Amino acid sequence: MTAESKSLSPLPYRADCHVHTRWCGHAVGEMRDYVEAAISQELTQIGFAAHMPITIPIEEKLYLSREERALYAEEIRRLREEYAGTIDVLMGGECDFAPGQESEVEAAINAYPFDYMLGAVHFIDGWGHDNPTYEQRWRSSDVAAVYRRYYELLAEAAQSGYYDIVSHFDLVKKFGCVPQSDISDAEASAADAVAEAGMAVEINTSGFDKPAREQYPSDRILTLLRERRVPICFGSDAHSPVEVARYFDQAGALAAELGWTTVARHKARERFLETLNP
Ligand SMILES: [Zn+2]
Ligand SMILES: [Zn+2]
Repeated sequence: MTAESKSLSPLPYRADCHVHTRWCGHAVGEMRDYVEAAISQELTQIGFAAHMPITIPIEEKLYLSREERALYAEEIRRLREEYAGTIDVLMGGECDFAPGQESEVEAAINAYPFDYMLGAVHFIDGWGHDNPTYEQRWRSSDVAAVYRRYYELLAEAAQSGYYDIVSHFDLVKKFGCVPQSDISDAEASAADAVAEAGMAVEINTSGFDKPAREQYPSDRILTLLRERRVPICFGSDAHSPVEVARYFDQAGALAAELGWTTVARHKARERFLETLNP
Protein backbone atom coordinates (compact mmCIF):
# COMPACT_ATOMS: atom_id res chain seq x y z
CA MET A 1 0.00 0.00 0.00
CA THR A 2 1.38 3.40 -0.89
CA ALA A 3 1.54 6.24 1.60
CA GLU A 4 -1.09 8.02 -0.44
CA SER A 5 -3.65 5.25 -0.31
CA LYS A 6 -2.99 4.86 3.41
CA SER A 7 -3.96 8.47 3.96
CA LEU A 8 -7.41 7.57 2.62
CA SER A 9 -8.08 5.02 5.34
CA PRO A 10 -11.63 5.43 6.65
CA LEU A 11 -12.23 8.19 9.13
CA PRO A 12 -13.80 7.03 12.39
CA TYR A 13 -16.89 9.19 11.73
CA ARG A 14 -17.67 9.92 8.17
CA ALA A 15 -19.86 12.98 7.98
CA ASP A 16 -19.00 16.61 7.30
CA CYS A 17 -21.92 18.79 8.35
CA HIS A 18 -20.54 22.14 7.29
CA VAL A 19 -19.50 23.02 3.75
CA HIS A 20 -20.11 26.15 1.71
CA THR A 21 -20.02 26.53 -2.08
CA ARG A 22 -19.67 29.31 -4.61
CA TRP A 23 -23.27 30.28 -3.85
CA CYS A 24 -21.97 31.96 -0.69
CA GLY A 25 -19.89 34.40 -2.69
CA HIS A 26 -16.68 34.01 -0.70
CA ALA A 27 -16.36 30.24 -1.34
CA VAL A 28 -15.43 28.41 -4.56
CA GLY A 29 -16.63 25.23 -6.24
CA GLU A 30 -19.89 23.75 -7.39
CA MET A 31 -21.97 21.63 -5.06
CA ARG A 32 -21.16 18.55 -7.10
CA ASP A 33 -17.40 19.17 -6.57
CA TYR A 34 -17.98 19.03 -2.80
CA VAL A 35 -19.93 15.80 -3.06
CA GLU A 36 -17.16 14.28 -5.18
CA ALA A 37 -14.53 15.48 -2.69
CA ALA A 38 -16.51 13.89 0.15
CA ILE A 39 -16.67 10.58 -1.71
CA SER A 40 -12.93 10.65 -2.30
CA GLN A 41 -12.51 11.23 1.45
CA GLU A 42 -14.65 8.13 2.04
CA LEU A 43 -17.37 10.09 3.79
CA THR A 44 -20.84 8.58 3.93
CA GLN A 45 -22.59 11.90 4.47
CA ILE A 46 -22.06 15.50 3.41
CA GLY A 47 -24.15 18.42 4.61
CA PHE A 48 -24.31 21.76 2.85
CA ALA A 49 -24.52 24.73 5.20
CA ALA A 50 -24.98 27.81 3.04
CA HIS A 51 -25.50 31.13 4.79
CA MET A 52 -29.22 31.74 4.99
CA PRO A 53 -30.61 34.92 3.49
CA ILE A 54 -31.23 37.30 6.36
CA THR A 55 -30.37 40.97 6.50
CA ILE A 56 -26.76 41.54 7.48
CA PRO A 57 -25.12 44.86 8.31
CA ILE A 58 -22.56 44.77 5.45
CA GLU A 59 -22.74 44.96 1.67
CA GLU A 60 -20.43 42.06 0.83
CA LYS A 61 -21.95 39.08 -0.99
CA LEU A 62 -21.64 36.40 1.66
CA TYR A 63 -25.12 34.96 1.99
CA LEU A 64 -27.60 33.31 -0.33
CA SER A 65 -30.32 35.46 -1.77
CA ARG A 66 -33.85 34.12 -1.49
CA GLU A 67 -33.81 33.23 -5.19
CA GLU A 68 -30.50 31.41 -4.81
CA ARG A 69 -31.82 29.48 -1.84
CA ALA A 70 -34.54 27.99 -4.04
CA LEU A 71 -31.88 26.86 -6.54
CA TYR A 72 -29.72 25.57 -3.68
CA ALA A 73 -32.57 23.42 -2.40
CA GLU A 74 -33.30 22.13 -5.89
CA GLU A 75 -29.66 21.24 -6.56
CA ILE A 76 -29.42 19.38 -3.24
CA ARG A 77 -32.50 17.37 -4.11
CA ARG A 78 -30.96 16.53 -7.49
CA LEU A 79 -27.61 15.50 -6.01
CA ARG A 80 -29.31 13.49 -3.26
CA GLU A 81 -31.09 11.41 -5.88
CA GLU A 82 -28.11 11.05 -8.14
CA TYR A 83 -25.76 9.92 -5.37
CA ALA A 84 -28.25 7.80 -3.41
CA GLY A 85 -26.53 4.62 -2.28
CA THR A 86 -23.08 6.24 -2.52
CA ILE A 87 -23.29 9.19 -0.16
CA ASP A 88 -26.04 10.89 1.77
CA VAL A 89 -26.41 14.53 0.71
CA LEU A 90 -28.03 16.73 3.34
CA MET A 91 -29.60 20.14 3.18
CA GLY A 92 -28.33 22.05 6.15
CA GLY A 93 -27.92 25.77 6.55
CA GLU A 94 -25.96 28.23 8.64
CA CYS A 95 -28.11 31.03 9.98
CA ASP A 96 -26.96 34.03 11.96
CA PHE A 97 -28.58 35.12 15.15
CA ALA A 98 -29.04 38.80 15.98
CA PRO A 99 -31.46 40.17 18.57
CA GLY A 100 -34.41 41.87 16.91
CA GLN A 101 -34.18 39.69 13.81
CA GLU A 102 -35.97 36.69 15.27
CA SER A 103 -38.87 36.74 12.82
CA GLU A 104 -36.47 36.93 9.88
CA VAL A 105 -34.45 34.02 11.27
CA GLU A 106 -37.58 32.00 11.84
CA ALA A 107 -38.79 32.61 8.30
CA ALA A 108 -35.40 31.61 6.85
CA ILE A 109 -35.26 28.41 8.85
CA ASN A 110 -38.79 27.35 7.99
CA ALA A 111 -38.59 28.19 4.31
CA TYR A 112 -37.42 24.69 3.28
CA PRO A 113 -37.36 21.21 4.80
CA PHE A 114 -33.82 21.49 6.11
CA ASP A 115 -32.08 18.51 7.68
CA TYR A 116 -30.52 20.75 10.32
CA MET A 117 -29.68 24.35 11.02
CA LEU A 118 -26.37 25.64 12.34
CA GLY A 119 -26.61 28.73 14.53
CA ALA A 120 -23.84 31.30 14.27
CA VAL A 121 -22.85 34.69 15.59
CA HIS A 122 -20.81 36.37 12.85
CA PHE A 123 -21.87 39.88 13.88
CA ILE A 124 -21.55 41.49 17.27
CA ASP A 125 -23.96 44.43 17.34
CA GLY A 126 -23.34 45.06 13.67
CA TRP A 127 -19.59 44.36 13.60
CA GLY A 128 -18.43 41.47 11.43
CA HIS A 129 -15.85 40.42 14.01
CA ASP A 130 -14.56 37.42 12.01
CA ASN A 131 -14.42 39.23 8.68
CA PRO A 132 -10.89 40.22 7.55
CA THR A 133 -12.28 43.49 6.14
CA TYR A 134 -13.15 44.62 9.67
CA GLU A 135 -10.29 42.98 11.53
CA GLN A 136 -8.71 46.36 12.26
CA ARG A 137 -11.38 47.12 14.82
CA TRP A 138 -9.92 44.49 17.14
CA ARG A 139 -6.95 46.81 17.72
CA SER A 140 -9.08 49.44 19.40
CA SER A 141 -11.38 46.99 21.17
CA ASP A 142 -11.57 45.84 24.75
CA VAL A 143 -11.00 42.19 23.85
CA ALA A 144 -12.52 40.73 27.02
CA ALA A 145 -15.64 42.89 26.59
CA VAL A 146 -16.00 41.70 22.98
CA TYR A 147 -15.72 38.07 24.08
CA ARG A 148 -18.30 38.62 26.80
CA ARG A 149 -20.77 40.21 24.38
CA TYR A 150 -20.14 37.43 21.86
CA TYR A 151 -20.95 34.72 24.41
CA GLU A 152 -24.04 36.62 25.54
CA LEU A 153 -25.29 36.58 21.94
CA LEU A 154 -24.39 32.93 21.53
CA ALA A 155 -26.41 32.09 24.65
CA GLU A 156 -29.34 34.10 23.27
CA ALA A 157 -29.06 32.23 19.98
CA ALA A 158 -29.28 28.93 21.88
CA GLN A 159 -32.22 30.15 23.97
CA SER A 160 -34.08 31.14 20.81
CA GLY A 161 -34.61 27.44 20.10
CA TYR A 162 -34.17 27.90 16.34
CA TYR A 163 -31.03 25.84 15.85
CA ASP A 164 -29.83 22.24 15.99
CA ILE A 165 -26.06 22.77 16.09
CA VAL A 166 -23.73 25.54 17.27
CA SER A 167 -21.37 26.69 14.53
CA HIS A 168 -17.75 27.39 15.57
CA PHE A 169 -18.56 27.97 19.26
CA ASP A 170 -15.61 30.29 19.94
CA LEU A 171 -15.33 31.98 16.54
CA VAL A 172 -14.46 35.20 18.34
CA LYS A 173 -10.87 33.90 18.73
CA LYS A 174 -10.36 33.63 14.96
CA PHE A 175 -7.76 36.40 14.60
CA GLY A 176 -5.88 35.30 17.70
CA CYS A 177 -6.91 38.16 20.01
CA VAL A 178 -6.94 36.71 23.50
CA PRO A 179 -8.69 38.38 26.45
CA GLN A 180 -6.38 39.48 29.24
CA SER A 181 -8.92 38.85 31.97
CA ASP A 182 -10.76 35.70 32.94
CA ILE A 183 -13.95 35.20 30.93
CA SER A 184 -14.57 31.59 31.89
CA ASP A 185 -17.93 32.48 33.50
CA ALA A 186 -19.16 33.81 30.12
CA GLU A 187 -17.99 30.64 28.36
CA ALA A 188 -19.68 28.48 30.98
CA SER A 189 -22.97 30.42 30.69
CA ALA A 190 -22.95 29.94 26.92
CA ALA A 191 -22.20 26.23 27.39
CA ASP A 192 -25.11 26.01 29.86
CA ALA A 193 -27.48 27.67 27.39
CA VAL A 194 -26.41 25.32 24.60
CA ALA A 195 -26.85 22.26 26.81
CA GLU A 196 -30.25 23.43 28.06
CA ALA A 197 -31.41 24.06 24.49
CA GLY A 198 -30.51 20.48 23.58
CA MET A 199 -28.19 21.63 20.80
CA ALA A 200 -25.21 19.75 19.44
CA VAL A 201 -21.86 21.43 18.86
CA GLU A 202 -19.66 20.93 15.83
CA ILE A 203 -15.95 20.51 16.16
CA ASN A 204 -15.17 22.95 13.39
CA THR A 205 -11.74 22.24 11.97
CA SER A 206 -11.35 25.43 9.92
CA GLY A 207 -9.72 27.09 12.93
CA PHE A 208 -6.51 25.13 12.31
CA ASP A 209 -6.03 27.22 9.15
CA LYS A 210 -6.75 30.55 10.88
CA PRO A 211 -4.52 32.65 13.17
CA ALA A 212 -6.20 30.92 16.15
CA ARG A 213 -4.39 27.72 15.01
CA GLU A 214 -6.77 25.31 16.69
CA GLN A 215 -10.22 23.86 16.21
CA TYR A 216 -13.38 25.64 17.34
CA PRO A 217 -14.13 25.25 20.17
CA SER A 218 -10.95 25.06 22.23
CA ASP A 219 -10.07 22.00 24.34
CA ARG A 220 -11.15 23.97 27.42
CA ILE A 221 -14.63 24.70 26.04
CA LEU A 222 -14.98 21.17 24.68
CA THR A 223 -14.38 19.95 28.22
CA LEU A 224 -17.20 22.20 29.47
CA LEU A 225 -19.48 20.82 26.78
CA ARG A 226 -18.52 17.25 27.53
CA GLU A 227 -19.32 17.78 31.21
CA ARG A 228 -22.77 18.98 30.11
CA ARG A 229 -23.26 15.95 27.85
CA VAL A 230 -23.59 18.03 24.70
CA PRO A 231 -23.46 15.85 21.55
CA ILE A 232 -20.85 16.64 18.92
CA CYS A 233 -20.49 16.41 15.19
CA PHE A 234 -17.73 17.41 12.77
CA GLY A 235 -17.63 20.31 10.33
CA SER A 236 -14.80 21.44 8.06
CA ASP A 237 -16.41 24.78 7.13
CA ALA A 238 -14.90 24.08 3.71
CA HIS A 239 -14.89 27.05 1.37
CA SER A 240 -13.18 24.98 -1.32
CA PRO A 241 -13.67 21.29 -2.21
CA VAL A 242 -10.12 20.41 -1.11
CA GLU A 243 -11.03 21.48 2.42
CA VAL A 244 -13.80 18.88 2.87
CA ALA A 245 -13.16 16.86 6.06
CA ARG A 246 -9.92 18.73 6.72
CA TYR A 247 -8.17 17.68 9.98
CA PHE A 248 -10.97 15.24 10.82
CA ASP A 249 -8.54 12.61 12.08
CA GLN A 250 -7.18 15.11 14.61
CA ALA A 251 -10.66 16.25 15.63
CA GLY A 252 -11.90 12.67 16.03
CA ALA A 253 -8.92 11.74 18.18
CA LEU A 254 -9.51 14.81 20.34
CA ALA A 255 -13.21 14.02 20.79
CA ALA A 256 -12.40 10.47 21.85
CA GLU A 257 -9.69 11.70 24.23
CA LEU A 258 -12.17 14.07 25.87
CA GLY A 259 -14.60 11.23 26.44
CA TRP A 260 -17.11 11.33 23.60
CA THR A 261 -18.13 7.88 22.42
CA THR A 262 -20.84 8.95 19.98
CA VAL A 263 -21.21 11.42 17.14
CA ALA A 264 -24.45 13.19 16.24
CA ARG A 265 -25.98 13.09 12.80
CA HIS A 266 -29.02 15.08 11.82
CA LYS A 267 -31.71 14.39 9.27
CA ALA A 268 -35.08 16.09 8.81
CA ARG A 269 -34.22 18.01 11.98
CA GLU A 270 -33.96 14.86 14.06
CA ARG A 271 -30.81 13.68 15.78
CA PHE A 272 -29.25 10.23 15.67
CA LEU A 273 -26.24 9.21 17.73
CA GLU A 274 -23.71 6.86 16.19
CA THR A 275 -20.64 5.25 17.66
CA LEU A 276 -17.65 7.55 17.29
CA ASN A 277 -15.22 4.74 16.49
CA PRO A 278 -17.20 1.92 14.87
ZN1 LIG B 1 -19.69 30.53 10.03
ZN1 LIG C 1 -19.65 28.34 7.67
